[in-house]
Amino acid sequence: MNTFSFAPQASAPTGGHVVPNKNTPKPQGQGVQRNPIRKRHFQRPVQRPNNPVAKSATTPQISTGAPRQNRNFRPNQRRGKGGMKKGGPTSLVTRRVESPSLPLRSDDVLRVIPIGGFDETGARNCMAIEYKRDIIVIDAGLMFPEEDMPGIDYIIPDISMLRGRERDIRGIFITHAHLDHMGALPHILPRIGNPPVYSSLFTSKLIQKKHLDFPNQAKPITQEVKAGDILRLGSFEIEALHAQHSVPDAIGLVVRTPSGTVFITGDWKFDADPVHDAPTPRAHIEKLGLKGVTVMFGDSTNANVPGVTITEQTVMDSLDKIFKDTTGRIIASTTGSNVRRIQQMLALAVKHQRKVAIEGFSMRTAVEIAQELKYIEVPKGTIISSEETNNMSPSKVLIICTGAQAEEQAVLMRIVNKEHRTLEIQPGDAVIFSSSSIPGNERAIGHLKDYLARQGAEVYHNQMMDVHSSGHGKQEDLKEMLGMIKPEFFVPAYGDFYHRKVHGRLAQDVGISKEKILYPDNGQVIEVRPHDVRVTSEKYPINYIMVDGLGVGDLADVVLRDRQVLSSDGIIVVIVKMAHQNGEMLGKADIVSRGFVYMKEQKVLIDETQKKIQEILGKTKSKEQYATPPNEAYIKAKLRDDLGQFLFNKTQRRPMIIPLLIEV
Ligand SMILES: [Zn+2]
Repeated sequence: MNTFSFAPQASAPTGGHVVPNKNTPKPQGQGVQRNPIRKRHFQRPVQRPNNPVAKSATTPQISTGAPRQNRNFRPNQRRGKGGMKKGGPTSLVTRRVESPSLPLRSDDVLRVIPIGGFDETGARNCMAIEYKRDIIVIDAGLMFPEEDMPGIDYIIPDISMLRGRERDIRGIFITHAHLDHMGALPHILPRIGNPPVYSSLFTSKLIQKKHLDFPNQAKPITQEVKAGDILRLGSFEIEALHAQHSVPDAIGLVVRTPSGTVFITGDWKFDADPVHDAPTPRAHIEKLGLKGVTVMFGDSTNANVPGVTITEQTVMDSLDKIFKDTTGRIIASTTGSNVRRIQQMLALAVKHQRKVAIEGFSMRTAVEIAQELKYIEVPKGTIISSEETNNMSPSKVLIICTGAQAEEQAVLMRIVNKEHRTLEIQPGDAVIFSSSSIPGNERAIGHLKDYLARQGAEVYHNQMMDVHSSGHGKQEDLKEMLGMIKPEFFVPAYGDFYHRKVHGRLAQDVGISKEKILYPDNGQVIEVRPHDVRVTSEKYPINYIMVDGLGVGDLADVVLRDRQVLSSDGIIVVIVKMAHQNGEMLGKADIVSRGFVYMKEQKVLIDETQKKIQEILGKTKSKEQYATPPNEAYIKAKLRDDLGQFLFNKTQRRPMIIPLLIEV
């Protein structure tokens, strides 16, 4: 995955000076139909907030939940299986599994512990490497919530096994400036004793920038690392290697100890014809292979995609053709972090004499830093504000914006929904989607394209032209890398089990024997000795550490489960008046429904429900199961159970039932 964003993608004025305004007011709507896509996407499978860090910037609330394997509150499991569980859905609470700390050991074994990124695609990448007393951490990425985690901003790696070992952590390395590798850093750093953060220049600038959103935390101690540098930290010797990727200054890492050499590729690709970037250094990689790598951890993101990643020059040529053929405005959408693509677009704008508006907060942050570091250089006056573009001939305008994943709050979606401050689609616009769809977003992207076409835009995307090249190597690239390194052991990394398995098969194709390809889970310790690497049964529990701007405390699973029930079957509030002396029900129950049924159209059901409530309470009373005055807890539980069953029989739905008893 390749997104980062540090604050809402608000449209602040562009130009020489960028003002990150997180509180840009939303424009007023015009009429009732101003947001067609959002309505249609009410049940979009994956909702990825595109500005997670900013939402909880001041006081991030962290809560923990049991890991995926232990979670049992999936709505589909509860649906359609007869009666409700005793005690209602609140009995489905799962508890977090506490992790013990990593023990101090003096043996001569190098240990690698994958902490995140081994059960999920492109998410919360993090690993710890331990030798004798020394520990280094590599990456601190975040993961976007799954569809069964409504309201959660993101999930960060569970580093609880490092508790008590803070003094032994020599540093944390960040391989590149993507959220799935660095997004959790502000949360992780204070929990591991704020060790130095080693990263390349661009990454380091972004880390410092991100810190501004967390003013109450200690400033990160950033140390710049250049490709080719060799560092000695404790008993480790660490070498940084250039990796070509969609963000500048990405690195891979070689970690050497007397017990073995570990190579972590980071995110990378091969590109015979790069634009604005140095290629991943084949010669250096070959040398590294000749020196010997005990175990390699490789990027599995594109392991199931055949062929080689197309070159950036091919992309440049396709884009150039669009620029040549288009007489209207060009609106090019990509991920905010794809500085390489933004560079290409800017170069083409200069060539074809278009002025450029850059829209989207994360994108402007990245461009600002890239300009500061002179990675992006354009003639003065090339970048203008989106307001200015409105007074120009369409043939002179390029708008580069976020939103190619159809994220709800990103610029492209706001333009289509007519919610953008200054921009609307005009007939004759060419809209380019220059990114790969993140799995789960395809449907939303399809709708977005549909609306763009309806509003008169010409849409270009990857399936019709080479307008995008992935930042990750594909099958032939992966095989080439494996062939050059020839690691003694191989651990496919950064991917769910399927992608890792496919990557493992590619390794077999280049001659690595099956027994030497390892598939550890998150939390499972890998022991490295000379010519011997094994996945052990020593395994630390890895929980979902959830960050929610609203704050949910330790009862995250209960809250999550409630949110699921509310989002799938709604809520019904039953208000019952009872006599204080004998618990007799007075009059009919009042019923309020939200998201369950539309009450005006369900009069019969509501009448029957009211009768049922009378029956339940009448029966309860006649059995004298509660004393006078009424036993509130018992009546509430009874109402939840019996009414839940009744409503399920009638509707096949399980709304959350909230009984309110009023004693008069
Ligand atoms: Zn990346």
